[in-house]
Amino acid sequence: MADIEKRVESDGDVYRTLLESTRAIPWKIDWATMTFAYIGPQIETLLGWEPSSWASVQDWIDRMHPEERTWAVDFCVAQSKAGIDHEADYRALCKNGDYVWIRDVVHVVRNADGSVDSLIGFMFDISERKRTEEKLLGLQKELEELSYKDGLTGVANRRRFDAIMEIEWDNARRNRQPLSLVMLDIDYFKQYNDHYGHLEGDQCLKMVARLLGTAATRARDFVARFGGEEFVLVLPETDENAALKVAERCRELIAQERIPHDRSEIGPALTVSLGVSTTIPSHGDAPLPFIETVDKRLYQAKQQGRNRIVSSN
Ligand code: GH3
Ligand code: MG
Ligand code: MG
Repeated sequence: MADIEKRVESDGDVYRTLLESTRAIPWKIDWATMTFAYIGPQIETLLGWEPSSWASVQDWIDRMHPEERTWAVDFCVAQSKAGIDHEADYRALCKNGDYVWIRDVVHVVRNADGSVDSLIGFMFDISERKRTEEKLLGLQKELEELSYKDGLTGVANRRRFDAIMEIEWDNARRNRQPLSLVMLDIDYFKQYNDHYGHLEGDQCLKMVARLLGTAATRARDFVARFGGEEFVLVLPETDENAALKVAERCRELIAQERIPHDRSEIGPALTVSLGVSTTIPSHGDAPLPFIETVDKRLYQAKQQGRNRIVSSN
């Protein structure tokens, strides 16, 4: 054998050794016959199928997860026909019935006339990356929920209130519908904490939040914790009379619960004070002055003796 031929042959051995010792799985498909000309032996380690069982392109298609099959095959065939190198992620079926996420990176080899000669590619095991991605997505969702929720009571937090208020404000202005706001503050809550302790105070806040959730009954009614022991109800498409009724329901529900409050100057049970206001926003109006109006009425309710509602009528 001539020296040059020997070298080519030994180079071939080197390439084969390299190809078959990487974690990526090499393969070649002959385009004319749609058969595998080659597939790396690593495929058996990853999926359990012997290399000899990868005969036709159909074997590859059959071992693809049904959810990815149609688009992955259509995509790869279209790209190949167009002579475009491409990659596709899909789940490949293992011999034991499991699936493994694979990224197939494909190079299209073309003849001198431009027609497709063969496809050469590498399959990469990306299952670990997919698991991490899924975990991250789950965490992101959890974080999103947490960032909108008050950690103690589970109702919406102030940030969420601000966002909802903007949306409902625009809705009300566009549709010329009344928007009502009820703001509520627990009476003598400092004394409650001082007497029963902060942990009992926390339990009390949870209970009030739960009761407020039952007072607001329409689908778009919305309860949020506005601050320490202050809550707010956003009531879209609700006029003054209806809003007053909701406020009265809040006051009664909490009174009926008869949460003991030995240090209240009003009576033996926990009470709340409320401010209510209704508006049909005009163009150029902003939510803040409206919120301030409700807050002022709540303050008036405190000054007038607490355990009461102040509204415009
Ligand atoms: P008023 O009747 O005028 O509303 O009197 P008040 O004592 O309720 O009002 P003030 O604003 O002076 O007190 C509010 C108290 O709420 C003080 C604060 O310690 C308590 N507070 C705020 N946030 C929390 C919380 O998350 N947990 C508990 N336990 N207490 C809280
Ligand atoms: Mg208070
Ligand atoms: Mg307060």
